[in-house]
Amino acid sequence: MRIFNIGGRTHVQPRETMRCNRCGLEYLLEDTTCTHCKGMSNGEIIEKLHVPHSDQQDSNHKIGLWFLVIFIVIVVLMGFAF
Ligand SMILES: [Zn+2]
Repeated sequence: MRIFNIGGRTHVQPRETMRCNRCGLEYLLEDTTCTHCKGMSNGEIIEKLHVPHSDQQDSNHKIGLWFLVIFIVIVVLMGFAF
């Protein structure tokens, strides 16, 4: 992620992601392997990743969850920056 400053505001450029062939989740291109299902069997992927997600059919729920994830990532990165 590149963080740059324009006119006193901090802009964050998101890093490139890849969709995993095994679990279908996105992971950072620079990680080379999926961080979500790394070391898991196919059964574990379904149990731990797909079952909890299938409960959330409401798309608004998913968008809210993504904003939360992005927010946490930004907070963590800011924590490392200082
Ligand atoms: Zn995966």
